[in-house]
Amino acid sequence: MPKNKYRNAFFFFMLDWKKRAEARGKTFPNGMKDVQADQDCNKEWQNLTKQQKGLYEAMAKKDKVLAQGAPDKKTTLGESIKMLEEKEKEGERSMKEMEENIKITIDMAVNLNILPKIKFCFMHVNWFFATIVDNRVEYFPAEYALGVFSLENGIEDVHQVIVSSKIPLGYRREALETSQSGHQIPVEHEGGETDFTVMYAKLINFLEPRKLVNKFPPIYTLQSDIGPVQSLLAKLCDAAEQDVEQFKIYELETLFIHVAKEAYKARNDRQIKYIPAYAYHVFTRYTYIFETGFECPFHKYVERGSEYCSKSKLHQWAWTMCDEFCLPLGVKMQEGVHCPVKRDVAGLTNALINLNVEDNYQPAPESSTILSMTGVSEQHKWKASSRTYQDEIRRRHQSTPIAVIDYSAMGDTTDVPANESDNESLDKSGNISFDERRRRRNLMHYLNERRVQSSADSYADACASATVEDLIPNDCENFPPIGGRGVSCRANRVTKKAPLGRGSILLSKFMI
Ligand SMILES: [Zn+2]
Repeated sequence: MPKNKYRNAFFFFMLDWKKRAEARGKTFPNGMKDVQADQDCNKEWQNLTKQQKGLYEAMAKKDKVLAQGAPDKKTTLGESIKMLEEKEKEGERSMKEMEENIKITIDMAVNLNILPKIKFCFMHVNWFFATIVDNRVEYFPAEYALGVFSLENGIEDVHQVIVSSKIPLGYRREALETSQSGHQIPVEHEGGETDFTVMYAKLINFLEPRKLVNKFPPIYTLQSDIGPVQSLLAKLCDAAEQDVEQFKIYELETLFIHVAKEAYKARNDRQIKYIPAYAYHVFTRYTYIFETGFECPFHKYVERGSEYCSKSKLHQWAWTMCDEFCLPLGVKMQEGVHCPVKRDVAGLTNALINLNVEDNYQPAPESSTILSMTGVSEQHKWKASSRTYQDEIRRRHQSTPIAVIDYSAMGDTTDVPANESDNESLDKSGNISFDERRRRRNLMHYLNERRVQSSADSYADACASATVEDLIPNDCENFPPIGGRGVSCRANRVTKKAPLGRGSILLSKFMI
């Protein structure tokens, strides 16, 4: 990084010496070069005491601090502090100027009693994406609308444009996402304006007749929309090689505050001390976002078009102003001008009144209801939850005890169980009939149950079906290795035999 230039102590001495020499009538045609080459000057500098030189050294030190420090101080984001301070000062200056100008305009209109007739320009901009250029956020426009408003006539005239200019490389995705989450204007939409110079010319055509004292009227927008409006005007002016300073952008909320100070004198339901807070809230309400019929031709056929369309926005701001100020300022409210057109809601209201809502819920028959994961139907849950405590106790007492069948106690393991209730199916010798056995087997098969075998039986069956490998204790199984490098869990699993019975197909699938 190159070092910043700063002057040394000798330089400040030379300045001083030059002044004195010139006072004596000496001239230096080549400026400081001549002074530096002058023998007298050099001699005097060398003869100075340390204390005398100290004065010039202090001056040099100060110069060094100034040259190296202050101008180059940066924020953590790398922005120049000096530049930011200047920007802030400029912002404060323009805010003050805006406040003063709006106040003058409103005061003058009140004095002349023409406040409802005064015309204001409103502007809204929809955008595709934002970039940061030279510490400034720049917005790429998608649509803009400029409208002329007065309390007397609402929005009188609108100039609305859909921007179809080519999206710069790398920003297409962002543009698509912004569009889809809001205004829905397609990227490079056919039928829109593509040339910013043409757009500038059309804007000037619209504003030209509205010039005041050879100056364009200030353009009002919401505080949150100042950035996009500024970017758009800068873009148009850049394209047309015109000065952007010819346009002044003012806050709509500040205009609201100044009009309110006058209009609220006639409204008992508003308190003047709360005006500033109210002004910044009133335009964020969703009162009019669903009012259709005021959109641009594109947004007319788009879902939620009235919420996002720049033209609709102008009307919504205008209605907000009219709702607050028309009556106190003696302007008669007209539908479609000062407020949206009232829909015929009488029919809908009647229909709602006649609606008969059945509140005695009748659950569907149990057979048709859907079972939950546990196999309990919704119907059953309703029934169970509606039982009283006494009912529940009675049900428990009534329930039959569970029959435990011990197969091991029976001699013939191939036989199905017999209990006391099966007496009638036993023949005289005490054996179960063949048909009964078959019936029970079928039943068990249907229920997918397995018989409980006695330990002796199960050992004998296992021996009969087992292979030699099965009978040798599997050390891997009994003493599994501690997991680490080279131990393949998968290989270990594959050696296992798939268990028989329920779920065996599923399990074996996992193992392969
Ligand atoms: Zn629109």
